[in-house]
Amino acid sequence: MSVYVFGHKNPDSDSIVGAISLSYLKNKSEKEEYIPARQGEISAETEFILNRFGGELPMLKTSVAGERVFIVDSTDKPHFQDDIDEATIIGIADHHKLGDLMTDAPLEAWIRPIGCSNTVIYEMYRCYGVKVPKEIAGMMMMAILSDTVIFKSPTCTKVDTKAVKELAEIAGVTDYKKLAMEMFIVKSAVDGASARDLNTRDYKEFNMNGTKVGIGQLEMVDISVLEPREEELLEDMKKMKEENGLHTVLILLTDIMKEGSKLLVVSDDESKIEAAFDIKLQDHKAWLDGVLSRKKQIVPFVQPQF
Ligand code: MN
Ligand code: MN
Repeated sequence: MSVYVFGHKNPDSDSIVGAISLSYLKNKSEKEEYIPARQGEISAETEFILNRFGGELPMLKTSVAGERVFIVDSTDKPHFQDDIDEATIIGIADHHKLGDLMTDAPLEAWIRPIGCSNTVIYEMYRCYGVKVPKEIAGMMMMAILSDTVIFKSPTCTKVDTKAVKELAEIAGVTDYKKLAMEMFIVKSAVDGASARDLNTRDYKEFNMNGTKVGIGQLEMVDISVLEPREEELLEDMKKMKEENGLHTVLILLTDIMKEGSKLLVVSDDESKIEAAFDIKLQDHKAWLDGVLSRKKQIVPFVQPQF
């Protein structure tokens, strides 16, 4: 029986490339067929990576009842198909907090607090003694550079930088930082995007001790281009909050050059967010200096407030 490999909803480059890289590894080392999949449309950033290295778009898989699956880049139930409980999870490769997915049977789990799921998968290749093909090496390198914000994110470790250097060599890319900047410029494009497009471009919902909190992030080389649209983003955040029965919606406008994030807040109780970061919101906004990572610098501080 085939195994579907996929990452979280609203797939980012780590989720898409992880599905491809992990499937290749498993197909080299196991009898079952592993099939790369995804839960939604890919971003312009991911398209850039697939085009640059000739990657194939994983198949769309929005229902998994009765299937065998291997998941990457999250273990939070809200990030998966509505029927994920009816699938058999045979494995996990991730670099986030442990989520709320449960299994009935033993599984393999590769989880490390490092910068990217693809770094975890790279370690799996070494463990299995499988060579990373050139094209996949290039894509994995880009996923790591994306997740670690070109090594600037506090989630980035020596394991990640070493992996990028080794993968760059396999891929035959000499100036990987230049290529990564090109990728972030593609990612920063906001022309023609609606407020909803922007708010949900990299958006995740969390169940925080029974309370629903939505957190979106836009990583850009210059967030000032969005200044004229902040009110519009806040208006749309209000709508998202109503539509999805959320307590709080946070949007992080992350400036990868200034190395910090502007936080936009729509909440039933803004004081919880102020307490989480020891800040005072002004017009539902605050600048968080040095904050680049949702998983390491936002979620762990917001969750205890609920
Ligand atoms: Mn991800
Ligand atoms: Mn990731």
